[in-house]
Amino acid sequence: MLRSIENYIEVVGREVVADIHRKASRIYDKHVFHLNSTFVGGGVAEILSRLVPMMNDIGVDTGWRILHGNHAFFEVTKKFHNALQGQKTKITEEDLRLYLEVNDEFSGYTHIDHDCVIVHDPQPMPLIRFFKKRQPWIWRCHIDISDPSPELWDFMKDYLLRYDVAIISTEEYRKKDLPIEQRVIPPAIDPLSTKNRHIDEKTVAEHIALANIPTDKPLITQVSRMDPWKDPEGVLDVYERVRKRVDCRLLFCYELAADDPEGVRIYQKVHRKAHELIKRGDVIFVVGNNDLLVNSIQRFSNVILQKSTREGFGLTVAESLWKGAPVVASAVGGIPSQITDGHNGFLVDPTDYDGCADRVVELLKHPKLGKKLGSNGRESVRERFLVTRLLGDYLDLLIDLLR
Ligand code: UDP
Repeated sequence: MLRSIENYIEVVGREVVADIHRKASRIYDKHVFHLNSTFVGGGVAEILSRLVPMMNDIGVDTGWRILHGNHAFFEVTKKFHNALQGQKTKITEEDLRLYLEVNDEFSGYTHIDHDCVIVHDPQPMPLIRFFKKRQPWIWRCHIDISDPSPELWDFMKDYLLRYDVAIISTEEYRKKDLPIEQRVIPPAIDPLSTKNRHIDEKTVAEHIALANIPTDKPLITQVSRMDPWKDPEGVLDVYERVRKRVDCRLLFCYELAADDPEGVRIYQKVHRKAHELIKRGDVIFVVGNNDLLVNSIQRFSNVILQKSTREGFGLTVAESLWKGAPVVASAVGGIPSQITDGHNGFLVDPTDYDGCADRVVELLKHPKLGKKLGSNGRESVRERFLVTRLLGDYLDLLIDLLR
């Protein structure tokens, strides 16, 4: 769908759009690019697929490049991701060597004559060492780095010092021991994307039917990559508690990201654990690689669960709130910045399975309560988590660095 910034007037009003144009006009002659490690799967690809065309639309020349990794490299960088989020993981010399080698090699595939480089997450972070630095570089960190493995963090810091700014998603991730500017910019969702735009009930029903999702019982859903931090096994445990009190189904809407080799292993583990319930048709797995289907599932589900044990931000939460869905989510990482408990959803302790099940049951039994939370949810996203705000924040940062 051809879209321009003016389409967003209906959602955020003319003032916001005029402000974006005003900011963009200060850096019209600039040329920037984003770099990450996958164009499909997960929140980073989701954000860039919307943000990059919008930046070009408002006159800031913007590219999007992908680091060329291989399977072994992504095994290593997933280990890094886990260690930075606090998992005890052994990082070997060989891991570090491969990490640097792939980045070094990639530097030979690309040139940089841009005014600013925006690097997302740990995978391409060391690339900065393999170029002669002639412009500001920004490191955009999407993960929860509040309690990283000290050894790996020390290693990363030496590279991060070359960056001009690090962007983090919440104040809690600020690192006292990283002596560069750190700016809090929460991620955001695009209200007009295929995943988030309004669709009517008939379209929702069609997509639910096309995916063979049965509709005779209430549905609890978690939409997530298959990742240990998303705690799919915990989701199963909560569901087992809930179904003793309310007859319902559990849907895993999942995807496998190209830069996340752990996904298949976790999928197999959860599948094995849910074997009996799958046979009975009470636990369902659907591949969410179709945005209209994800949109439909988030609207159709009676409760959306996000039972993460760590969560950099959790776009799935904002997406569900925007659709007015009743959400029960763990009070971890970026989630409490999106949900005020009892106002626009429920926050739970990720280790308290009974407490989580209680909230889900409450929402299944009282759909009116879910509607009220959902309608507050939509307004909270309109105020703080739409892509127009994110675009404005990026423009502010670029103006500060480039003018
Ligand atoms: N997603 C999807 N299909 C799925 C599972 C996830 O399209 O089956 C999308 C989801 O809608 C969201 C993104 O992947 O836009 C996940 O972002 P989030 O910040 O929640 O988590 P991340 O994967 O980045 O850790």
